Amino acid sequence: MRKLTLLCVLALAACDVAGPAPQQQSGTAPPRATISTPTSAKLSQFKAVVAAVEPVAERECRARAQGANCDFRIVVDDRPGQPANAFQTVDKQGRPVLAFNLALIAEVRNPDELAFVMGHEAAHHISGHLDRQRTNAMAGAILLGGLASITGASQGAVQSATDLGAGLGARTYSKDYELEADALGTIITRRAGYDPVRGAAFFTQIADPGDRFLGTHPPNAKRIETVRRVDASL
Ligand SMILES: [Zn+2]
Repeated sequence: MRKLTLLCVLALAACDVAGPAPQQQSGTAPPRATISTPTSAKLSQFKAVVAAVEPVAERECRARAQGANCDFRIVVDDRPGQPANAFQTVDKQGRPVLAFNLALIAEVRNPDELAFVMGHEAAHHISGHLDRQRTNAMAGAILLGGLASITGASQGAVQSATDLGAGLGARTYSKDYELEADALGTIITRRAGYDPVRGAAFFTQIADPGDRFLGTHPPNAKRIETVRRVDASL
């Protein structure tokens, strides 16, 4: 079992699996977010899921992503007061990092949910989404920045068009990436011995983003359907 590293700051989050919105107090008092902290049972559950999922994720990575660094580093993001979240990034040495914060470890209802979130984040790395997202963000920035220059906009306007373009470029693709990560995450979860359909029910805890234009996440129903379809084909 690899020692869990505690991180202070992680930049470059590729994709977030945000947890349920923090509960708010009822009544007339101003709402106050309550952030869960994991019990020792939930921490043990996390360690057990890491031990089962990590080798499977590394095996799938080596089989599918030739030349990629498949030595996953699974860490706990222990910054206090953060709502439930998990994300994938790469450290300075190029090792893929899967980060889970304390609230997420506390709020998953069973090991299947945790395994599915882990499989999903590993899948983003295996599918190269972080690099592809950067490339897409760059393409969007150049496109809109270029249009603004051509129309004779001031330097400030060009800069803000470039920023907007980067956002659009990154977000236009992310629904597809999420479904891709759900599909491969389903395979990893099942091969690690967990139930991906039960695991994907974690999404039903999250506010459904619906089908808004340029929303960064696909509708929950579409994600669950993807998971069921891939799982049935295994
Ligand atoms: Zn994702």
